[in-house]
Amino acid sequence: MFDQFGRNIRYLRVSVTDRCNLRCRYCMPEEGVEWVDHSAILSYEQIVRLVRLAAGLGVEKVRLTGGEPLVRKGLAGLVREIKAIEGIRTVNLTTNGVLLADQLPDLLEAGLDGVNLSLDTLDREQFAALTRRDELPRTLEGLEAALAAPGLTVKVNCVPSGGNDPQLVPLASLARDRDLSVRFIELMPIGLGDTLTRRTEEEVLARLEEAFGPAVSCPTDPLSGPSRNVTFPGFRGQVGFISAVSHQFCQSCNRVRLTATGFLKTCLQYDHGVDLKALLDAGADDATLQAAMADAINHKPASHHFGGQRQAADEGRNMNQIGG
Ligand code: SAM
Ligand code: SF4
Repeated sequence: MFDQFGRNIRYLRVSVTDRCNLRCRYCMPEEGVEWVDHSAILSYEQIVRLVRLAAGLGVEKVRLTGGEPLVRKGLAGLVREIKAIEGIRTVNLTTNGVLLADQLPDLLEAGLDGVNLSLDTLDREQFAALTRRDELPRTLEGLEAALAAPGLTVKVNCVPSGGNDPQLVPLASLARDRDLSVRFIELMPIGLGDTLTRRTEEEVLARLEEAFGPAVSCPTDPLSGPSRNVTFPGFRGQVGFISAVSHQFCQSCNRVRLTATGFLKTCLQYDHGVDLKALLDAGADDATLQAAMADAINHKPASHHFGGQRQAADEGRNMNQIGG
């Protein structure tokens, strides 16, 4: 459906849990967080129902995220059920990759279309420092498993955060040597995102051009998201930049988010949206739920204001509770 600013909303990011097996510095505090009680988390049955209603409003692309989605049992079953919903064309997963090698066969069998694997460094010690867990080997096993899966789209997501500057070129090299895209996601001032150093698209690109030569722009498909893509001579894949702060893309934003606790969130920066879990718990019927979704989508904010003054309605959650 179209929102009040004429944006066609067809992409839903669904967070299935706030829990995670890593503690990335820009996402979760070292001591962890108080996990939300299971009773406050949407059941898979409720998620499927809400996605079906969202599909009725024009959503056609779903991404499962978290927390770490693979720590929730039975995720492949959810993929299978969402894939079966009329109108849903793709189901993708964003994961830290630690549990991916084990679960990928079931996910593929369920119809998973693609995996975005978050990886900020290829250096084991630095990985352990950035994520506070020594899990690089299993993450790389997950990446290899994804690359070996026929037909699966694989993207590596890296958040440049100052400490991993020397790793940006080795990470981009993955797109030279392997069949994947590497995307650099600008650090956003959400939750703990303010505590590290943001590197802009221009800064990262300058490092890459020094290593690989002049970047060549690739045509962007507005349907596939806000990434601005380039390639370099001899590369198999592309390098993308998702720069919400330095190159705001709100005008073409086509997404909304469903948190693990059932809040339909219409912009990353604000707490605007609707508490669908409360409606579900009150026994709302499909028509009521869908009308509430449509109303929230219609009132999706025009844009974020990253970099500006804090506002009363700003998001107070950490990224693990939102899903990135
Ligand atoms: N655990 C999964 C993972 O790490 O891929 C899925 C959830 S995670 C919240 C989704 C994405 O958000 C990851 O790629 C992560 O790097 C990114 N992220 C987390 N906090 C961020 C921040 N403050 N700014 C930009 N990206 C962030
Ligand atoms: Fe976990 Fe992903 Fe957040 Fe890292 S970015 S702590 S892997 S939810």
